Amino acid sequence: MPLSDHTTDQCRECLATIRWAITVHGRRQALDAEPDAKGNLAAYVDGTGTLRVRVLTAERDRLEGAEWQAMPHAATCTRPPVRRTARPGRRAVVRRGAWTRWPR
Ligand SMILES: [Zn+2]
Repeated sequence: MPLSDHTTDQCRECLATIRWAITVHGRRQALDAEPDAKGNLAAYVDGTGTLRVRVLTAERDRLEGAEWQAMPHAATCTRPPVRRTARPGRRAVVRRGAWTRWPR
């Protein structure tokens, strides 16, 4: 199954080679560039050359047709993007009087 290289990209975080696929929900998802038997995704190139991906479910847990087993890159990325959901209650740590001067 030929996996063309023109669909590869580079992860901005860990610089690994990835492929962008479109999920069944129409969203972009980064996959590891090479098939991975441990992946939970089935990827295939549709008639327009778009890489599509679906999650292997209990009902459809086997690869079908030209699908190859893919690993979501988020699972293997060595530098996950920093989540921007910083806790709003988080405030700068202000040390006040961590130690007090002993009276002389
Ligand atoms: Zn990465």
